[in-house]
Formats: sequence, C-alpha cells, structure tokens
Amino acid sequence: MKAIVFADHKSGKITKAGLEAISYAKGMGAEPIVVSYGSLEGDGGAGSAGAAEVVVATAIQQFDGQKLTRLVVKMAEEKGANVMITSHDHAGKMVAPRVAARLDVAMISGATALPSNSNVRKNVFSGKAMADVNLKTDKQVITVMPNSVGITQTDATANVSTTDFDGGNSAVTVKAFHPLSTDGSVPLPEAELVVSAGRGLKGPENWDMIEELAKELGATTACSRPVADSGWRPHHEHVGQTGVAIRPNLYIAVGISGAIQHLAGVNASKTIVVVNTDPEAPFFKSADYGIVGDAFDVVPKLIEAVKEFNANK
Ligand SMILES: Cc1cc2nc3c(=O)[nH]c(=O)nc-3n(C[C@H](O)[C@H](O)[C@H](O)COP(=O)(O)OP(=O)(O)OC[C@H]3O[C@@H](n4cnc5c(N)ncnc54)[C@H](O)[C@@H]3O)c2cc1C
Repeated sequence: MKAIVFADHKSGKITKAGLEAISYAKGMGAEPIVVSYGSLEGDGGAGSAGAAEVVVATAIQQFDGQKLTRLVVKMAEEKGANVMITSHDHAGKMVAPRVAARLDVAMISGATALPSNSNVRKNVFSGKAMADVNLKTDKQVITVMPNSVGITQTDATANVSTTDFDGGNSAVTVKAFHPLSTDGSVPLPEAELVVSAGRGLKGPENWDMIEELAKELGATTACSRPVADSGWRPHHEHVGQTGVAIRPNLYIAVGISGAIQHLAGVNASKTIVVVNTDPEAPFFKSADYGIVGDAFDVVPKLIEAVKEFNANK
C-alpha cells in the first residue's frame, strides 16, 4: 500500500507535524511517499521518520492550497497511492478536503490514532467524546492531529527527486506570508509545552512573567479568548473551541477559569497544571496539578524553581 504524505516545511526541514504524518503512514503499514514544495535541505528529515521517497515541487515556491492540491492529486495518481495523509495543521486543513473532493474519496479529519479494523479514531463534540469512523472508499484522505502519534526515529535517508509541476493558476494568490511565530518559539499546534494565561492576569502589562516562565521552560505562550478579544495578546495565541486546539505534554493555565469552550481546545493535553485564586474554578476538575493561589505570587516562584532546575541540569 502506498501513501502520499503532504508535508509542510520550515527553513528546509519538514515540520514536526509533517514528520508525525509520515510516521502515521508508516505505522499503518503503508509506504510513505512525501510530497512537498519549494526547497528542502536534503530530504528535510523525511527519511528519519520512515519515508523512502520525497518529491519536491520546486516551481511552487510558497504555500498555495490550490496549487498544492493539484500537486498531491497528480502525485497520488502517478504513484498509484491508496491513501493521502497530512497533518491536521493549517497547511493540511487547506489541502486535504480539496484532495478528497477532487478524488471523490472518503476523508477523516483530525485522526488521533492509527486505524484499527478500517476504523479511524477522532475526537468529536469539542473533545468530549471519541468516534471510530469507518472509511468505506478504496482510497482515503486522513489528516492527523498534531501531537497524537510519536515520530519514528531511524538513521535512514529518503531518495529525493524534484518535479517542475507548478500547480497551475490559482483563483486566489498568496501575496504575503506572515509567519505567526516570529520569536523562534514552536508554533502552538506543534508545541509540547505551553504556558497560557487568562483574564486573571488583569492586563497585558502583566504578561512579562508568563513570557519569562515560557522562556525558561522552552514553552510556547497561549491565552484564553477574552484575552485575545481584548487585544492583550495576539489572536493566534487564543486556544479553545473557537481558537487553536492543542495537545501538548504540559499545559500550564494561569488565571483561566476553565470554561467549557476553553477546555474544548486544551483538554487533550497530557498534563494540566492550573493556577487560580478561586478553589471552585471549574478548571481544577480537569487539572492533574492545581495550585490555589495568586498568579502574582505563584508564577515568580515557578520561574525561580525552573531557573534553579535549569542551572543544575
Ligand atoms: C461560542 C463561544 C465560544 C467560545 N470560545 C472560546 C475559546 O475558544 N477559548 C476560550 O478561552 N474561551 C472561549 N469562550 C469564552 C469562554 O466561555 C470564557 O468566557 C473564557 O474562556 C473565560 O476566559 P478567562 O478564563 O480568561 O476569564 P474569566 O472567566 O474572567 O476567568 C478568570 C479566572 O482568573 C482567576 N483569577 C483572578 N485573579 C487571579 C489571580 N490574581 N491569580 C490567579 N487566578 C486569578 C479567576 O478566579 C477566574 O477563574 C467562548 C464563548 C462562547 C460563547
């Protein structure tokens, strides 16, 4: 069975979410053929995640959902692929549904586990339940939720070839591309460590300590929706039902009440730590560790503790 894996890249390297998609394909017993665009450094790391072959469309220089859809469809047909896999990240979400529509095949978005008896698991009802979805067409499209599956680690390198296919014309042209994370931190959907804060911080002037804690931990910052709506933090940091859905290993929530709409985007985190003055805050029910206390006392102490830990590593 062959799988076309569309993988996005950053600075010549396949993104972590892309490597997870490759490993997912490998894990389901398929032969992953990676399709990417622009330029990669070598195989972009695809071989180490289980791919034997990488095809790069060098004429498509920047992300364009329509061009990349045509590229993936063309490669799927040329290679006789049975399944098309991509991450459930921004790039994957723009390409996968278009590919499924063009090929008229079944699609599952946001798979959280490898297929079992042709059923693929995903979260439904804002993460409050899981569904095992049966895909009935011979060919299928699957997007994989970031941080759901591990990355295969091998010493292998994939064979890289290029195609001059330019994807044709797009009805919409990308004129400028503004990466959301300019400070070098890991993008939220891929982050394994996240420090998040809410209205309990009182105002944007108090975010220095959240950024410092995140920096010491090597974490990415996030926030609740009212914080982004008030302009205290940029909108791309807003997590929850109407924001980014994340699954980090550690989610530290400071001064966030834990409303159901917030939990919908974060309750798949492996470990949740909550800091809140109100012992009745709903977030404590979902927390693995809870600190009832004032953020302005607790966070500086956490920063000191992490600094001491880092110094003694
Ligand atoms: C359709 C819809 C979609 C929504 N989507 C989202 C979404 O995607 N994401 C999202 O986040 N919200 C979403 N919301 C809003 C959500 O319902 C909550 O209103 C919001 O999450 C509350 O944000 P908050 O916890 O930061 O603020 P608050 O509810 O004001 O809570 C602040 C918390 O901080 C605590 N606190 C106060 N002072 C301190 C201190 N000094 N130290 C420590 N703790 C302190 C308080 O005890 C309180 O628990 C949505 C709402 C609707 C209706």
